[in-house]
Amino acid sequence: MIEFENVHKAYHVEGRDVPALQRIDLTVEAGEVYGVIGHSGAGKSTLLRLINLLERPSGGRIRVDGEDVTDYRGADLMALRRRIGMIFQHFNLLSSKSVADNVAFPMRLAGTYSRSQIQRRVDDLLARVGLSDQARKYPAQLSGGQKQRVGIARALACEPRILLCDEATSALDPQTTQSVLRLLGDINRELGLTVVLITHEMGAIRTICDRVAVLDGGVVVEQGNAADVFLHPKHPTTQRFVLETEHLDEEEQNEDFAKVPGRILRLTFRGEATYRPLLGTVAQRTGVDYSILNGRIDHIKDTPYGQLTLSLVGGDVDAAVRELNAPDVDVEVLRR
Ligand code: ADP
Repeated sequence: MIEFENVHKAYHVEGRDVPALQRIDLTVEAGEVYGVIGHSGAGKSTLLRLINLLERPSGGRIRVDGEDVTDYRGADLMALRRRIGMIFQHFNLLSSKSVADNVAFPMRLAGTYSRSQIQRRVDDLLARVGLSDQARKYPAQLSGGQKQRVGIARALACEPRILLCDEATSALDPQTTQSVLRLLGDINRELGLTVVLITHEMGAIRTICDRVAVLDGGVVVEQGNAADVFLHPKHPTTQRFVLETEHLDEEEQNEDFAKVPGRILRLTFRGEATYRPLLGTVAQRTGVDYSILNGRIDHIKDTPYGQLTLSLVGGDVDAAVRELNAPDVDVEVLRR
């Protein structure tokens, strides 16, 4: 649905070119939720704004739905932008218009919808985002989560194929963030919409993304299936993002390790393996004893996973490590 081929972007600042993105190659498949994560200044907004050509690339090609759009102008560009909805961190609603009029606005602008079509679509969209009873209110009368729901309804107004989300949950509290992410996930599934979101929060990636790219200093340092990247981060930047969401501090972890004897392992269970009673069975068979230093069971999108940090003592520790290495279980030795 979206392809970047060797895309570069430099901004012209005080007479010189400052690179914001370099050598970006990526492909977003139709119907997936694609996340781009990075710290502030990494180039996320630039990357997102290149998709609907709010920014022009300095080099490389951009294709949307199979069409090379890099040089689109005028009517082509307008048509492209109508196929791409966008939502923003600070919602960007028109404060002087009611909720219903905010949602109707892009359809009125497009000029291709009749008055009754607009009315019907506004009703449907507000129902979809759970705001049917707020249609006559003004943005200032809504909570942050409600404002973002209006933003989502407005972004869907002209029936786009792609939805771009620019830090869409960064201004919301954790509970509201989850409900807005769930809504985006539902829209992706039910409408088959391709979603690209940029964020600095690994939590958002974990909740709804199928695949993810990690941006650092204007380059993609890691990309892949969200579960793979999250469970086995390779690049130091990705590892830091994961540690942040796990609320793990490396120093604290090392202090904990110093308090226990034995071999220290981290087990990662994925899918059905998450619920298998592996640990007890292996302990019985090999005579090892274990203490749990850290653990969680959670989901990455729809994939359940568990992660346990253990110390093993006594019995046949080598055999235990071998047996723990079961299908869909990954064993990392953190201390020999
Ligand atoms: P992010 O969204 O990850 O915070 P941005 O895409 O906003 O990153 O910015 C990437 C880099 O490009 C930064 O160094 C930023 O200062 C620079 N930049 C972004 N927009 C502009 C602009 N309009 N003019 C000049 N420099 C810009």
